[in-house]
Amino acid sequence: MNCNIIKDLLPSYIDGICSEETVATIEKHTEHCQGCKETMQMMQQQPTVQLIETNVEAVKEPFKRINKKRRFQVITAILMTFMLTIIGYQVVQEVGVVHQYFFPKVIAIVEIEDGMEDWQSISFTDFHFKDRDYLIYDRLFWKREIVNDANNERDVLLRVKDEKGNVIIDDFQISPGKSVKLDGLKRKEKYFFEIKAPQGRYSINAV
Ligand SMILES: [Zn+2]
Repeated sequence: MNCNIIKDLLPSYIDGICSEETVATIEKHTEHCQGCKETMQMMQQQPTVQLIETNVEAVKEPFKRINKKRRFQVITAILMTFMLTIIGYQVVQEVGVVHQYFFPKVIAIVEIEDGMEDWQSISFTDFHFKDRDYLIYDRLFWKREIVNDANNERDVLLRVKDEKGNVIIDDFQISPGKSVKLDGLKRKEKYFFEIKAPQGRYSINAV
């Protein structure tokens, strides 16, 4: 049989998934063909199997018998793991910052005690856990939407004031899980939000 066909069949032969007939053909061929025999022997020495065996040996050895070079390798591996963990953690943090840049969002938790009486100002908490009593659309990526969180139980009334205290957007209602787009608001100006709602706790998000 042609050597190329034998070499094509060798991986399956080594994995033990050939038919008896093919096995017989391959074995008969490699008895006489030195080239294919060597290829087969090379393929049978699977590097992964060897690596696992080496590790098993290392584990079996008592720690004091591990030579200096080996110990150095172990310590290096531990340090590398430690460093990678820290780097990984920082990357995750950076991703958070990047995410916040492209998908800005601030959250306000508002506690309304005497429901529907007065307007109550809203303080938003940003990604850095800083509270601000105003919103500023300082980046292009703000959608300029106000969301009445889906977990809230009631509709809320909101209104928007500018820095001088003028009402820019008069009261508008948002149902739980709904949002309102505030197209009229300009970039880089401070806007103050006020809420009127029945007694309760509300989560208002600005994106
Ligand atoms: Zn051959």
